[in-house]
Amino acid sequence: MNNQQRDPKTIGKIRRTAALLILLGVLGFAGFRCTGKLREKPDGSGSTATLSQITATEAQSAAPAESPAAPPTDAPTEAPTEPPTEPPTEPPTEPDESWKLTLVNRWNALPEDYDVSLVTLSNGRSVDERIYPDLQAMFDAARAAGLSPMVREGFRTHSDQEAIMNERIAGYEAEGYSEEEARQKAEEYVAIPGTSEHELGLAVDINSTSEDAWGLYNWLAQNAHEYGFILRYPEGKESITGIDYEPWHYRYVGKEAAAEIYSQQVTLEEYLQ
Ligand SMILES: [Zn+2]
Repeated sequence: MNNQQRDPKTIGKIRRTAALLILLGVLGFAGFRCTGKLREKPDGSGSTATLSQITATEAQSAAPAESPAAPPTDAPTEAPTEPPTEPPTEPPTEPDESWKLTLVNRWNALPEDYDVSLVTLSNGRSVDERIYPDLQAMFDAARAAGLSPMVREGFRTHSDQEAIMNERIAGYEAEGYSEEEARQKAEEYVAIPGTSEHELGLAVDINSTSEDAWGLYNWLAQNAHEYGFILRYPEGKESITGIDYEPWHYRYVGKEAAAEIYSQQVTLEEYLQ
C-alpha cells in the first residue's frame, strides 16, 4: 500500500509545511491587527480627540489640584484691596453738608417738612444740635477775650414767630396805625412766619450780659466766621437780605462757607448765587 509506505522524508515535508502554514497564519493575523491600528491614528479624528481630551483632562485635573491652594493665598490679599478703591463714599457726605446753606428769607420760606433736632442750652433756649459744638467753642473764645455773650434767642417754632409778629402788629396799631400799615411796618422788623432763620434752628441772637454790647458785636464780626457763623444781616445789604442791620443775629453756615462769606464781604444770598 502506497499510503502505508510513505517515506520519512515525505512525512517531514508535510510537517514542515503545516508548521509553516500555522506560522504564516499567526503572523498574518498579527499583521492585520497592526495595520488596522496604524491606519486609525492619522485618519481618525480619534487621535485629535484624544489629544484635546488629554488637554482638557489635564486642565480639569490641574484645576482641582491648584484651586484648593489658590483661594487661601489670593482671596485674603485681593478682596480687601479692591473694595476701598471701587466704592467712592462721597455721596453720603455731600447731602449732609447742604443743610448748612439752607436759604431762608422773605422770598424763600422754610421747607414745610423741615425737621430739627434740638439741643437745649443752659438758659432754656435751644438750637439745632449740629451747630452746638461750634457755638460753644465760639462762646468759650469770646469769654476768654473778656466778653460776656449769651444766646438771647435761638430756635423758634412757627407759632412762636406768629406770636411775635402779632404782638408787633398790635403795638403799631396801638400807636394809631391802621391794621395794614401796622402789618407793613411790623414786617420791616419781624420775619414773616415761615421765613425766619430762627425757625431753622441755625440762627442765634447773641447779646451781652455786660454793658459792653458793642465790644461783643465787634468781636463777633471779626471772629465768628472761624466757628462757622456769619453776620447774617450786614449794614448796607438790607435790599439783598430783606432785613435791617442786626449786629446780634448770627447764622451758622459751616466754617468753609463762613470763611468765604467773611473774606468776600457778601451776604448768604450773594454767596449762593
Ligand atoms: Zn435773629
